Amino acid sequence: MMADKADEAAPVKSGPVQKIIAVGSGKGGVGKSTVATNLAVALARSGRKVGVVDADIYGPSQARLLGTEGQKPVAHDSRLVPVASQWGVPVLSMAHLSNPGQAIAWRGPMASGAVTQLLQGHWDDAEIIVVDLPPGTGDIQLTMLQKFKPAGAVIVSTPQDLALMDATRAVELFSKSGVPIIGVVENMAGYICPHCGEVSDPFGTGGAEAAAREMGTAFLGRIPLDIAIRRESDAGTPTAAGDGPQAEAFANLARSVAD
Ligand code: ADP
Repeated sequence: MMADKADEAAPVKSGPVQKIIAVGSGKGGVGKSTVATNLAVALARSGRKVGVVDADIYGPSQARLLGTEGQKPVAHDSRLVPVASQWGVPVLSMAHLSNPGQAIAWRGPMASGAVTQLLQGHWDDAEIIVVDLPPGTGDIQLTMLQKFKPAGAVIVSTPQDLALMDATRAVELFSKSGVPIIGVVENMAGYICPHCGEVSDPFGTGGAEAAAREMGTAFLGRIPLDIAIRRESDAGTPTAAGDGPQAEAFANLARSVAD
């Protein structure tokens, strides 16, 4: 498959893409992909030309989140043409290149090669590419950092200690590789009861802000645990494209990232 050829394509041309923003997390399930999608949509809403690369090769979710499932990218001059979404954010994901539910059992170099192919797609118009990284600090992250030199990284964490410890590791990996940390986002901070509107804190709150302060990085804000975000994500209608209160939270995030 195309990943075999990826390393032949290096070194990577910088092309017209001005900025890669990597969205990472120390562990899975903290809402990294959700934040990446909504950050991209909020940036597009603010007038930026944005694309999304789903580098989460083993658990690609951007096709679902952006409502582009079932679409197949075509290749032009041996490079993939991103799939258009209805939110003004084109996307490339392994989910567009594999069958639904198909397990991707590749070793690191193959997976890194695939990420290279996604990033070397025809991103000609994009001013910013938001990259949804796999969780953790493995081969794919290193490929990204070494070959593509993101302009900055956004780290997503839930407020509880374990997630924060892992997030700290992710921050260290980026920092050591010379990628500036744009800041830390606290996701699933405070649960808003859909019935009575009462706010509770299943994972605690404020932990990411304190951790960001300790690490000397910026705190980019809090996104609450809101069932509407989960529902809209599953439906491929990103929260940031709507008019609800959380769309504003993502718009704020986009402002701090774009500055
Ligand atoms: P990750 O990329 O870190 O593995 P996902 O973005 O896939 O995490 O999110 C995991 C699950 O949590 C998904 O079902 C998603 O819809 C849900 N989710 C993420 N953030 C929120 C939130 N702020 N409120 C409600 N559900 C959320």
